[in-house]
Amino acid sequence: MWDLVVIGGGLSGAISAVSSVLAFRELTRELIKSSKLRVALVSPELGGIPARGLVTPLGGAFSLSGKCLLTPLARSFINDLTELGEAITWEDPIGFTSKHITINTLSLGFRLEQLLNNWGVTYLKARATKIRVTPNGIQIHLDSGIIKSKVVVDATGENLIARSLSLRLIEETPLPLSRIILVKGVDYVKLLKWALNHPGEFYKETRWDLLEDVLSGKSFNWAISGFTGILADKPLPFPRDRIVAFSYFTPDKVLLNVTRVQGSWEGVYDSSLREESVKQVLALHDHLRKYIPGFENSQITAVGDLVSRDSPRTTETLKVLNEEDILREATNEEIGKYPIAGWRVDIHRGKGLIEREVPQNGFPIPLEIGILKDNPNLLLTGKNVSATSIPFSSLRVQGTLASLSEAIGALATLITIEGAGKSSELENLILKTKEILANRYEEFSQKGFKGVLDPSFSLSVDNI
Ligand SMILES: Cc1cc2nc3c(=O)[nH]c(=O)nc-3n(C[C@H](O)[C@H](O)[C@H](O)COP(=O)(O)OP(=O)(O)OC[C@H]3O[C@@H](n4cnc5c(N)ncnc54)[C@H](O)[C@@H]3O)c2cc1C
Repeated sequence: MWDLVVIGGGLSGAISAVSSVLAFRELTRELIKSSKLRVALVSPELGGIPARGLVTPLGGAFSLSGKCLLTPLARSFINDLTELGEAITWEDPIGFTSKHITINTLSLGFRLEQLLNNWGVTYLKARATKIRVTPNGIQIHLDSGIIKSKVVVDATGENLIARSLSLRLIEETPLPLSRIILVKGVDYVKLLKWALNHPGEFYKETRWDLLEDVLSGKSFNWAISGFTGILADKPLPFPRDRIVAFSYFTPDKVLLNVTRVQGSWEGVYDSSLREESVKQVLALHDHLRKYIPGFENSQITAVGDLVSRDSPRTTETLKVLNEEDILREATNEEIGKYPIAGWRVDIHRGKGLIEREVPQNGFPIPLEIGILKDNPNLLLTGKNVSATSIPFSSLRVQGTLASLSEAIGALATLITIEGAGKSSELENLILKTKEILANRYEEFSQKGFKGVLDPSFSLSVDNI
């Protein structure tokens, strides 16, 4: 019997698992290697969407107006992982600093495995097919057998728990599965000039002023999304409802995003959908070469794996995050100590863009959006949490989900140790989780958030 099983090996799952071990160590003053908390992480691979999608834009929500929004462990993790890759940082006129990192997918998976191992988390390379709640614990059915745990965190991004237990699950605007393609050899200036002369093909809200900065050499990248109308009069052998092209580019390299294959939640493993999406990748590239100046001599140099959807959903949790919740500004004391979302809402639909600012300091994320009403031994993190579409669009970025996952991991440990049968007990554990994060913040910030993932890092637990 495991104490805690985290399902899903993306950033959310990995951080939850490590955070839970760290919380155990903080609470019991045990050294990690002698930890009595038995934690396993189940996933067919490590790294999640970034590892499948070639480009790792880790931490779209790194900072807002110069303030760090990440919780301590999430920040250390991201610091650690970014060292694996090549980063491009820029500041846009609104004051967001974004950092895009290209990381070799093997290095990312390998480093996560090392970190899990260092922290005493057992990595089980398997896919969970369902979970069942029994009087003697929670059964997790894997493609290779059945394991049991006291507490389970669902970080699959696919609501495995809600689906297994047939809970009410509402998926607003379900999105298709996607692939990211990297194209090289693009005549960048020709392409940009063409884009400038064809504003009708792009979002109304496109920042042409930024494009001009690129053309004049002041800036090196420009991102647009929702290029769905692309040369609508020219034939494309598949529906255009969600092709996002030119989603991000630097001189010579263009990143495309084909998000068209409609599949079931397990579609990423479905070979016919995979084949269909590969055909679409090739068809889209042919189309661009034929009709878009600058692409004539380009080649596809890499194609990401099929990645799961990024759609908003709600299920039977203690709370559903809604539009009012994103208006409550985080106080200065809360920054860095609680999960806080700061990414501005940017929903790309068709040729339109729904934008909404969030408060200057971001808004605190209530942990109740990841706790099931009827069973607090089942926790949700990552994209599985309950949020309607506008707040979800702010939550869904990696840095934010990483912070939320750190809090959920710590809460999972408290539930494992203390139990959460009554609602008053649960409220108390949520408060304790915040204390844990606040103490970590003090500790980690003294170390500059560096080196703390090294198992030899000694965390002083005397003041906790
Ligand atoms: C096209 C696209 C573009 C994006 N661009 C950005 C961006 O620019 N910046 C940004 O910050 N965020 C971006 N995001 C969002 C970002 O990808 C997510 O925030 C992030 O990947 C969430 O991490 P996660 O660990 O919660 O989920 P995931 O990365 O989806 O990881 C889920 C993990 O669960 C595993 N899993 C799934 N099912 C099972 C199962 N049944 N059993 C066991 N394991 C399972 C998977 O294999 C995977 O390892 C983008 C998302 C998409 C789809």
